[in-house]
Amino acid sequence: MNSQETSKPAARLRLRVSGPAESAIRAGHPWLFAESVVEQNRPGLLGELGVIYDRKNCFLGFGLFDPGSPLRLRMLHVGRPQVVQRDWWQAKLGQALERRSTLFDHQTTGYRCIHGENDGWPGLVLDRYGSTYVLKLYTAAWLPRLDEIVSLIGEAVHPQQLVLRLSRNIQALSASQFGATDGKVILGSGDSQFPVFLESGIRFQADVCRGQKTGFFLDQRENRREVERLAHGRRVLNLFSYSGGFSLYAARGGARSVTDLDISAHALKSADHNYALNHEIPTIAQCEHRTIQADTFEWLEQAPKGRFDLLVLDPPSFAKNKGDVAGALGAYQKLASSAIGVLGRNGLLLAASCSAHVSAEAFTDLMLQVARSSGRPFAAIKTTGHPPDHPANFPEAWYLKCLYLRFD
Ligand code: SAH
Repeated sequence: MNSQETSKPAARLRLRVSGPAESAIRAGHPWLFAESVVEQNRPGLLGELGVIYDRKNCFLGFGLFDPGSPLRLRMLHVGRPQVVQRDWWQAKLGQALERRSTLFDHQTTGYRCIHGENDGWPGLVLDRYGSTYVLKLYTAAWLPRLDEIVSLIGEAVHPQQLVLRLSRNIQALSASQFGATDGKVILGSGDSQFPVFLESGIRFQADVCRGQKTGFFLDQRENRREVERLAHGRRVLNLFSYSGGFSLYAARGGARSVTDLDISAHALKSADHNYALNHEIPTIAQCEHRTIQADTFEWLEQAPKGRFDLLVLDPPSFAKNKGDVAGALGAYQKLASSAIGVLGRNGLLLAASCSAHVSAEAFTDLMLQVARSSGRPFAAIKTTGHPPDHPANFPEAWYLKCLYLRFD
C-alpha cells in the first residue's frame, strides 16, 4: 500500500492481531477490537490507516485507526495492497452510489447512499433527501479526512446542501479539535433545515439538522409500502409515529382513519406538516387524521379495546447494549400484549424492532409467544428485514426486523 500516509515521516502503522481476529477479518468482519491487537509498531493517530499483517507477515488489510475507541480499527479493505489516494476513495464512493442506481425511480428521492460498514465506509452514513444530502459520522476516525470526504461527495452528487451530523459520543471532540459541529451545513447554500423529498410519490420533510438519525426513518420504506397495501378501510393506529411516515402511506392506501401517537410534540407537528404536504392526494385528503401526544406504555394501559384494525408498533431501540436485552424484551412484550387488546376483529399488528442486540429469532419467538398468550386465534403472515439501501453484511449490522400478525 502506497498511501498518502507514506509521505508522513512516521513509519506506517503496523498491527498484528490475535488468531481469531485475523480469521474474522479475513472472512469479512469489519471490526478489530483493542483487545485483539497483539502487537503495534508505534502509537497510532486518530483516523490514520493502520495495516494488519497476518501470522505469516503478509499484508491482510487496512482500516481507520482510533486510539480512543475499544473498536480500534474499522476495516476499509481486505485483500491485496492498494494505493490509497483520492481516486481510491472516489472509486469506493462510486461503488456505493452505483449500488443504488437502479433501486429507485423519480418517485423516491430520499434514500441511503452509504450504509456504513456494509458499503465499505465504517461508521459513516450518507443519506439523500432530494437535493439535500446528510453526512453522519459515528466515529471520530473520519474527522481528520472530513474535508477530503466532503469534496468527494460534492464532486459525485453535487448537493444543493450537505449537512453534517455527528453521533452524540463524538460531538465534543469534533467541536474542540476539528471545529465540526452537529447540524452544520458544510457544503452548499444551506437554506433549508427541512428539505422536502419524495418517498414512493409521497412528500415528506426531513428534519436534517436536528432530527433523529439523519432526519427521517428511511429504513422503514418497505414496511410503509406494505402498510399502504393493507390499510384499505381500516382504522390505523401508528404508535411511536415520529413524523407520521406509516400514517401517510396508510391514508393513501384508503385507511378510514389514521392516528399518530408520539411522546414528542415536535414529532407530531412534523406529522401534521407532512399531512398538509400531501393534500392533493385524494385518499390522504379524505382520511381522518388525529394526533395524540402521550407515552405509549401509559396510553395503552387505558386504551379502548378493539378500537383499531391496523396497528403499527415501531418503537425506538430499547437495547443500547447487550446488558439491556432482557429489559428490551420485557418492554416489547408489554407493548405487544396491550396492543393486541386494542385491535378489533380481523386486526393486523405490525411489530418492528430496531435493537441490534435483539436477534430476529428472539424477537419473532417473543411476539409469537405474546400472540399465543392473548388467547385469540392468530396467524403470522409476514416477516421482513432490511431494505436494499440498508444492506446488512455482518451479524451486528442486522438491526431491523418486523413481524406481521393477524388476529381473528
Ligand atoms: N415509526 C417511526 C420511527 C419511530 S422513532 C417512523 O417510521 O418514522 C421513535 C419515536 O418514538 C420517536 O418519535 C420518539 O419521540 C417516540 N417515543 C419514544 N419513547 C416514547 C414513548 N414512551 N411513548 C411514545 N413515543 C415515544
